[in-house]
Amino acid sequence: MSEPQIVWLRRDLRLADQAAFTAASQAGPVIPVYILDDETPGDRRMGGASRWWLHHALEALQADLARHHSQLVIRRGDVVEELCRLAEETGAKAVHALRHYEPWWRRAQGKLKERLSLQLHDGNYLLPPGAVTTGSGSPYKIFTPFKNAMFEAIDGFDILPEPSLSSPDTWPGSLSLEDLDLLPTKPDWAGDMRDYWSGLHGTAAAMDRFDAFLDVIADYSDDRNLPAEDATSRLSPHLHFGEVSPRMLWDRIGSRPGGGARMFKAELVWRDYAQNLICEFPGYTQEPYRDGYDESFWRNPNRGHRIQEELEAWQRGRTGYPIVDAGMRQLWATGWMHNRVRMIAASFLVKHLLIDWRHGEHWFWDTLVDADYASNGTNWQWVSGTGVDSNMFVRIMAPLSQSEKFHAGDYIRTWVPELAELDDPYVHDPEAHGCKPSAYPAKLIGHKEARERALETYRASKE
Ligand SMILES: Cc1cc2nc3c(=O)[nH]c(=O)nc-3n(C[C@H](O)[C@H](O)[C@H](O)COP(=O)(O)OP(=O)(O)OC[C@H]3O[C@@H](n4cnc5c(N)ncnc54)[C@H](O)[C@@H]3O)c2cc1C
Repeated sequence: MSEPQIVWLRRDLRLADQAAFTAASQAGPVIPVYILDDETPGDRRMGGASRWWLHHALEALQADLARHHSQLVIRRGDVVEELCRLAEETGAKAVHALRHYEPWWRRAQGKLKERLSLQLHDGNYLLPPGAVTTGSGSPYKIFTPFKNAMFEAIDGFDILPEPSLSSPDTWPGSLSLEDLDLLPTKPDWAGDMRDYWSGLHGTAAAMDRFDAFLDVIADYSDDRNLPAEDATSRLSPHLHFGEVSPRMLWDRIGSRPGGGARMFKAELVWRDYAQNLICEFPGYTQEPYRDGYDESFWRNPNRGHRIQEELEAWQRGRTGYPIVDAGMRQLWATGWMHNRVRMIAASFLVKHLLIDWRHGEHWFWDTLVDADYASNGTNWQWVSGTGVDSNMFVRIMAPLSQSEKFHAGDYIRTWVPELAELDDPYVHDPEAHGCKPSAYPAKLIGHKEARERALETYRASKE
């Protein structure tokens, strides 16, 4: 029998359209391995909500592997040391993995290549980062030309089927999934998450969800902005953990006509765009791209500003702005927030409260089930106006008119129980209508005052 092949899994927890599995299965018996490594990512250790999701994604993968009479080897520790140890224990000839681009994974991949035969494959993005470039061969910085180039470059995908897997003569030792302690216990804060995502883990469930979404994809261009509607795919955590590949979704849409289908594909391109930016600027998640937005721009405890209380009010959904609070409470309860509300809540933190976007980015990192180094950092810089795009800082979103414009009444009533009895239009701004229930907090700052303060800060920073 040929020597075993290790498949090293990270955020690519699927069997179909998974080139590492395909290549390994053609070369010999396959040993799939997941290693929980909390050291290599440094301060980008996975947040609590991501760990909760990971547990369920691994559980679903175990079931998929069992269908193939295979199993998942689970280890914990430094990935480089663990993989070298596993290769020695099993006599594995090669380690196959999908290529990952977070700075810490790039470093680990480099180190591994020096010690064993690491075969990296593409497959977590529509196209590998760097596949499309400007006429002069440099990376795109702006989304729209990048998107146009991607649409031109993509001519359909050959989706890899689930491979047939043969097992090694003996299986190496493995931890159990429970040994990884990914689920919260004391306290168990995941009750609402269990309800919200019940039955939705793994590749098959994600594809079922996508098929249901295809029934409404024609309305996606308009309805995707309405947080009260179930009009987006909600596949972001599945895509983040690689339970499905974006190629599988693109392929499933096929040649379906209409603006909705094209708009959805463009959102998948956003994900590629974010990853391309991170490849060019690995520190994008921590460092503002534009000059003038260092710590001195923001309200800062070192200059006597009491931002901690306001930051906590934002985190807990107690800002006095119903649409912001509904979003932040949805995030806390479910680990997910509607995209339109992510924009409003992020803009509120950065512009109304003048709090450094990196505080928000960190909170999202810990609380989102889809927390993604590239997508999170890119979107925070985009909302804040600190990134590569046109400067958005002076475009200050008005949370209350956004709430009305995007018919967020039912969304607010769902996530802010203190306001559940208020009808439209009162629910969007109970304070202004004189019907704020006493249990609901007063606004941290008025919209007009916040807007003037933000613009003044911006003007002063330019002088
Ligand atoms: C401040 C802020 C932080 C964000 N942080 C993250 C994050 O950590 N992880 C994450 O996956 N998305 C992030 N997003 C993008 C977006 O909000 C989510 O991808 C989207 O809400 C997920 O819901 P969905 O799956 O229903 O999206 P759909 O509307 O169904 O879109 C399909 C897929 O396209 C991708 N996508 C859509 N919009 C974006 C976008 N703006 N940027 C990158 N990819 C996109 C996602 O993979 C998404 O699942 C963030 C947005 C903002 C404004």
